[in-house]
Amino acid sequence: MGLWCPQLPESVGGLGLSLAEFGRVSEELGRTPMGHYLFNCQAPDAGNLEILIEHATPEQKETWLAPLVRGEIRSCFSMTEPEHAGSNPVWMSTRAAKDGKDYVINGHKWFTSAADGAAFAIVMAVTNPDAPSPHLRASQIIVPTNTPGFNRVCNTPIMGHAGEDYTSHSEIRYENCRVPQKNLLGEEGKGFAIAQHRLGPGRIHHCMRWIGICERAFEMMCEHAAKRLLSPGKPLATRQIVQEWIAESRAEINASRLMVLDTAAKIDREGSRAARLEISLIKFFVAGVMQKVLDRAIQVHGGLGITDYTLLSHWFRHERAARIYDGPDEVHKTVVARMMLKPYGVDISA
Ligand SMILES: Cc1cc2nc3c(=O)[nH]c(=O)nc-3n(C[C@H](O)[C@H](O)[C@H](O)COP(=O)(O)OP(=O)(O)OC[C@H]3O[C@@H](n4cnc5c(N)ncnc54)[C@H](O)[C@@H]3O)c2cc1C
Repeated sequence: MGLWCPQLPESVGGLGLSLAEFGRVSEELGRTPMGHYLFNCQAPDAGNLEILIEHATPEQKETWLAPLVRGEIRSCFSMTEPEHAGSNPVWMSTRAAKDGKDYVINGHKWFTSAADGAAFAIVMAVTNPDAPSPHLRASQIIVPTNTPGFNRVCNTPIMGHAGEDYTSHSEIRYENCRVPQKNLLGEEGKGFAIAQHRLGPGRIHHCMRWIGICERAFEMMCEHAAKRLLSPGKPLATRQIVQEWIAESRAEINASRLMVLDTAAKIDREGSRAARLEISLIKFFVAGVMQKVLDRAIQVHGGLGITDYTLLSHWFRHERAARIYDGPDEVHKTVVARMMLKPYGVDISA
C-alpha cells in the first residue's frame, strides 16, 4: 500500500514524514497493539534503524540496515544490566576488549527487548575504561545473535506472562563473545552520544502511541458508561463521578497531544538537544495520563475491566512499564526541575 516505514527517510525506503507528521500516524497505530509492528516502526527496531541510518558504515548498512528496513529481520538493543541501576546507564560492567581484529565481549544484560528472534543486537559495552568522562567509555557494537558466546538465558517473565518473540525481554550473558572490530557503530567511546541521539524521536513515538491507547480506552469507557445500566433506564454515565472521569480524561488526552506535537515540531526544527526540557516533560506526563485513563476505563468496566475479554487489562499490564523505560518518571522530573531552578541559582546536580 506504500505505507511501509512511515518514520524513515525516503532515501532508505520510508515515507519521509517529519516527526510531527509521524506523531499523528503513531497515534492511530497505537490504537492496536499490532499497529507499529505492522508498519515496521516499533521499538526497538525503530531506534536501531535510526542509529544505523546515521552511524553505520556502507557495509553495515548493506548487511543489517537493508534487511531491517525490508522487515526481513528484527533487532534488539542491549544496554541495561541487572547489577547496575539502569537509570544511570554510564555505570556498566560489560566490557569489549580488543583482541587481534576482534572485540571480545563479556557481560550480563537484561531487559534486552525482542532479543528472542532478533538477528542482531546493538550492544553497549565499555571499550575505553580509562577515558576521563564516563560518557566516553562505552561503544555500540553490532553482535549477530548467532555468535558463539551470545547466550540468551531466558525471557524474563513480566506482569503475568512469560513473553515471547517481539514482546519479550531477554536476559543475556555475553561470554567471550567475539565479533570483528568492523562491527563498531560510529566512533569508539561515543556509544552514549549515539544513544542520546536516538532517544528524542523514540520518546515522540512512544508518547503518541500512548495517546492512541488513551483514545481507544476513552472510547471504550464512554461506550460502556452509556450502555451499562445500573437500573432500568439509568446508565452508569448518569453518575457524576463517571462524568468527572470522562471530563478529566478528555482534558488530559488533549493536553498530552498538544504537548507531544509541539515537542515533535521543536525537534524537527532545532534537533533533540534543543528540546530536552520538552522531551522530559512529555515522557512523564503522557505516561501518567495513560495510566490514569486506563485505570478509569477499567473502573467503569467493573469486573469486565480486569478480565482478558477486552484490551484494557492487556494495556494496564503491558504499559505500566512506560513510567520506567526510556528514563523513569523521577529522572525526567529531576531534569525538568534542574532546568527550571537553574536561573534561581539552585544546582540540583550537586
Ligand atoms: C518494558 C521495558 C523494556 C525495556 N527495554 C530495554 C531494552 O530494549 N534495552 C535495554 O538496554 N534496556 C531496556 N529496558 C531497561 C530500562 O532502560 C531500565 O529499566 C530503566 O533505565 C530503569 O533502570 P532499572 O530498571 O535498573 O531501575 P533503577 O535504575 O534501579 O531505578 C529504580 C527506580 O528508582 C527510581 N530512580 C531511579 N533514578 C532516580 C533518580 N535519579 N532520582 C529519583 N529516583 C530515581 C525510579 O523510580 C526507578 O524506577 C527496558 C525496561 C522495561 C521496563
